[in-house]
Amino acid sequence: MNKEEKRINLILFGPPGSGKGTQAKMLEKKFDLLQISTGDLFRYELGNNTPLGQKARTFMDKGQLVPDEVTVAMLKNKIEQHPHVKGYIFDGFPRTLPQSEALDELLSTRGESVDSLISLVVDDEEIVNRLLERGKTSGRKDDANEGVIRERINVYKSETAPVYAYYDQKGCAQEIAGIGEIDEINSRLNELISSLA
Ligand code: AMP
Repeated sequence: MNKEEKRINLILFGPPGSGKGTQAKMLEKKFDLLQISTGDLFRYELGNNTPLGQKARTFMDKGQLVPDEVTVAMLKNKIEQHPHVKGYIFDGFPRTLPQSEALDELLSTRGESVDSLISLVVDDEEIVNRLLERGKTSGRKDDANEGVIRERINVYKSETAPVYAYYDQKGCAQEIAGIGEIDEINSRLNELISSLA
């Protein structure tokens, strides 16, 4: 990477089922960034039945958050494996204030910060419907049960929503409507991100 080129670090934010993963994959291609989804990383560990996967499973199956120190260590490891990218799209991370502080700290050691947190706004009932639908084919235990889905929404509201306010105070948080066609939402995101460059 050219040293003069500005890297861009984005957080794609929003409740479970708001479309973060789908959109992050599209943005990864368009802007040549690396998507880091902590949910995907945990599912990879789980699928390989590693000690980390076994630890994460107990929390994931209940719709609760994996402890911060475990999550941050995994994230740090992933970043360190890919230092020379144009930037990162964090998907499903940070989900707590301590995770946000840890991310800022990690980026600041490279003289960087979060450029933008973009929150996809979707209402609760739409989320429940989307996740129950996804659960029919995703094979994800946490999508298959309405009680677990509602617990994930509660955890989002109590532990994760404050992350928005944290970055809003820094002047880099924005909301966009997460409802409508995938391409339509993608256009909104593209426009917003292009304006950051
Ligand atoms: P997701 O695929 O982002 O919906 O994540 C699925 C599950 O993985 C969550 O319900 C949590 O149990 C766990 N998880 C993913 N990301 C995090 C995170 N940043 N902090 C804690 N737990 C996480």
